[in-house]
Amino acid sequence: MSAPYPGVNDVAVFEALESNVRTYCRAFPTVFRTAKGARLTDEAGRGFIDFFTGAGALNYGHNPDAIRAKLIEYLAGDGVSHALDMHTTAKRRFLQRFLEVVLAPRNLDYKVQFCGPTGANTVEAALKLARLVTGRTTVCSFTGGWHGMTSGCLTVTAHREHRKTAGVPLANTTILPYPVGPYPFPNALQHIEHLLADPGSGFDLPAAFLLETVQAEGGIYVAPVEFLQGLRALCDRTGILLMVDDVQAGCGRTGTFFSFERAGIVPDVVCLSKSIGGYGLPMSLLLIRPAFDRWKPGQHTGTFRGNQLAFVAGEAALEYWRQPEFEASIARHGETIRRTLLTELVAVHPEIEVRGLGLLWGVDLSRAGGIGLGAAISRRCFERGLLVEACGRHDSVLKLLPPLVIEEATLREGLALLTQATKDVLSSR
Ligand code: PMP
Repeated sequence: MSAPYPGVNDVAVFEALESNVRTYCRAFPTVFRTAKGARLTDEAGRGFIDFFTGAGALNYGHNPDAIRAKLIEYLAGDGVSHALDMHTTAKRRFLQRFLEVVLAPRNLDYKVQFCGPTGANTVEAALKLARLVTGRTTVCSFTGGWHGMTSGCLTVTAHREHRKTAGVPLANTTILPYPVGPYPFPNALQHIEHLLADPGSGFDLPAAFLLETVQAEGGIYVAPVEFLQGLRALCDRTGILLMVDDVQAGCGRTGTFFSFERAGIVPDVVCLSKSIGGYGLPMSLLLIRPAFDRWKPGQHTGTFRGNQLAFVAGEAALEYWRQPEFEASIARHGETIRRTLLTELVAVHPEIEVRGLGLLWGVDLSRAGGIGLGAAISRRCFERGLLVEACGRHDSVLKLLPPLVIEEATLREGLALLTQATKDVLSSR
């Protein structure tokens, strides 16, 4: 261990004491001290533009003033800070606001289940509920899908290396082809329909389909609307539950509050986490069509269900969704990204591919230089002052996730850093 008084950006204590399991600190190797809006500052006073935003947990940026004020007021007034699933004023206010601003205007009739605070815990709840409701065991998920790292979630997560970390056979799930991806299955829906119709397919009726309507960790793949609508119709015919994992793509990331709104479908179950806590505060919830809320009390319990501070911040964050301008501003920023990537970044290398929706964009480098390029450009971005994560197969896609509330000038500045970093890396190869 080094000296007891570490200097700025000294990482000695982390390296000495923290487990080898840590990841993001390796991609972004400094010590962050403060953050505001779309910017983080490290201990040496260096600023970074944040296109990573807590992997989608900070859609409203770092320390937004209006939400912070509500949190300070709540803390100063000795508001309840922990209550398991007991009734509190903070929870009532969150539920009322969620009903008023999110569910009612979209004609959505859901029961709300507060789960343990991670995305993985809401997925665990969804898996259990699907089996409880249907009495069937198999849950189908999709190639490229990402649903979390607990043992249950790994059964539906497609990433081969991560699946191995479970250390046990991953059972009672089937991975089906997702229509889009580096190995696309344009006839995915027909394939599933045939599996179900063919008495010789060896495919038993599953309890549920679980999917992201836009795959994020998988490499930014946007499922076609017809696929989503076809899956909904198929579920209606067969009694299979349709479960959408909106942990990363929800809370406005794709331009609407829920990612499935663009397809005009209503899932039976929806997983939400990350930005539902408004301020990066942990919270997750499961939305359940009332007919499927068949839990008996306590069948998915846990000490940290419903984070009171996250209720306060989440309620305040939903104010954005009252403003008719908000969705339009996400669309405008998305268009800035699309245009800039297609003109400036693709000019760096013609085989760079760009995909996305709302403020969830992917820069696919797999044809522009192969394995390792995504991670190399992410590193170079960091050196230039931009946080951007690599995702997808072989980390070959850069995932752009700026705060929904980013200023236009900062967005353009970040995109320019990305273009410059891409030029740096490609010209040095
Ligand atoms: N589902 C999706 C779609 C995700 O992107 C993630 C996290 N990246 C999870 C589930 C798991 O969430 P958490 O890391 O909070 O457990």
